[in-house]
Amino acid sequence: MRFVDVIVKKREGFELTPEEIGAFVRGYVTGEVPDYQASAWCMATYFRSMTARETTSLTEAMAFSGATLDLHDVAPFIVDKHSSGGVGDKTTLVVGPIAASLGVPVGKMSGRGLSYSGGTLDKLESIPGFNVNLSIQQFKDQLRRVGLVVAGQTPELAPADGKLYALRDVTGTVPSLPLIASSIMSKKIAAGADAIVLDVKVGRGAFMESEAEGLELARLMIQIGTGLGKKMSALIGDMSQPLGMAIGNALEVVEAVEMLQGHGAEDFRRHCIEVAAEMLLIAGAAPTVEAARSQAEAALQDGTAWSKYCEFVIAQGGDPAGLSESGRLPRAPVIEPLIAPASGYLARMDAREVGLTVVELGGGRAKKGDPVDLAVGVVLAEQGKVGMQVRAGEPLLWIHARTAASLEAARARLSNAYALSETPVTRPRLIHQIIR
Ligand code: URA
Repeated sequence: MRFVDVIVKKREGFELTPEEIGAFVRGYVTGEVPDYQASAWCMATYFRSMTARETTSLTEAMAFSGATLDLHDVAPFIVDKHSSGGVGDKTTLVVGPIAASLGVPVGKMSGRGLSYSGGTLDKLESIPGFNVNLSIQQFKDQLRRVGLVVAGQTPELAPADGKLYALRDVTGTVPSLPLIASSIMSKKIAAGADAIVLDVKVGRGAFMESEAEGLELARLMIQIGTGLGKKMSALIGDMSQPLGMAIGNALEVVEAVEMLQGHGAEDFRRHCIEVAAEMLLIAGAAPTVEAARSQAEAALQDGTAWSKYCEFVIAQGGDPAGLSESGRLPRAPVIEPLIAPASGYLARMDAREVGLTVVELGGGRAKKGDPVDLAVGVVLAEQGKVGMQVRAGEPLLWIHARTAASLEAARARLSNAYALSETPVTRPRLIHQIIR
C-alpha cells in the first residue's frame, strides 16, 4: 500500500477501509509514515471528516498500536473520566482523588496541552519530582496500592495517540470530531477502563463550539465504547468562559489543591461534584445521583479526597514537602493585573482567547516537543466571571508572565477577550445535559 494513496483518498472525501486505516496508523508508529505525510492525512481528515465506521476503525487501530492493560488482577472494576478539552480544566486533579477516596479505583491515561486547551500531564509535571512516565508494572502497582494513578502514553501504551496528539497540536488539526473521538477512546481502551465518564465541553474554549457538535461527539464516543463492552456516560458542559479561576499549568495545580482543601470557585466546585458523582454512579458505588453527589461533597469537605491526592502525588514521585505550599511550584516573575476600565456586568470572558494568551505566554507549544513554561498563566479575579458585577479600576484578572514584553502582549490580547454590559447578565449554564 502506498501511504500517499491513503492521503489522496481521504482528501477526495472517500471512506477509508479498516485495512487502510490500520496500515497508516501502524506505519506512523513504526516511522514508515513520516510526520509530513501524517500531517497531510490529519488535515485531509479535518476537512473531510470520517464515517462512524472509519472512526471506530481508527480508534481500534490506535488503541491496539501498543499493549493494552488488563487491570482485573488489580481491581474488579476500573473507572476513568476524560475531558474533550477546555481552558482551566483541572477537573481530573480533584475528581480522581474524590472517586479513589470513596473506593472507586481510577487508572487514567491523560494527555498534554493541546492547542489552547491545557493538558493534565503538563499540569502534574509542575509538581517537583512528579513522574508521568510509568511502566505498565508501575501503573498497576500504584493502582493496587493507592487506587489512583495518572500517566501518559508510552511507547508501550497507545503510542499512536502519543504521536498523533503531539502532531495535531501543532498542525491546526485538533478540532476534528473523528480525531478527538479516536484520541480519547483509544487511550481509555488501552488503559483498561471498564467504565468511562466523558466530560464533553462546548463553547468558545472547547474544540466543539456548539451543543449540537458536542452531543454528536459524545454520542459517537458512547457508541464506540459500548461497542467494545464499556459502560459509558457523558456530561455536556459549558466552556464559553474558563472553568474556575486559574489557567496555566502550576496555577491550576494551586487551584485544584485549594479546592481539595475546601475552598475555591463555585463553578469549578459544582463541575467537580457532577463529574465525580457520575463516576460513583457508573461504578455502582452510589444508588442514586443525589447520593453520589452527597458522597462526593463529603469527601471534599472532610479531607479524605485531599489525603488521597497527597498519597497519589507522593506515589508518583512528587515532593511531599511541596504538597500544600504553592510557593514550591514554579512561579512567574512578573505578575500584573488587567484593570476594568468601566463599571458594569461581565458579559463575556472568551475562553479560547484566554487559552491562546496562555499559550503565547509560553504555557503551551508552538512546535512539537517545545518546552512548556509551567509557571505562566492567567488568574481571573472574582469579578472576572461572566455575570459578575464589575467595578471600574479593580482587576478583572491577573497575568503571570515570564517577561515584561510577554506581559504587555498578553495584556493587549486579553483587553479584547472580554466584554462589559451596562445591564445585568445571566451566568452561563454549567451542565447542559447528561447522557447515561
Ligand atoms: N483529549 C484527548 O485526549 N484528545 C483530543 O483530541 C482532545 C482531548
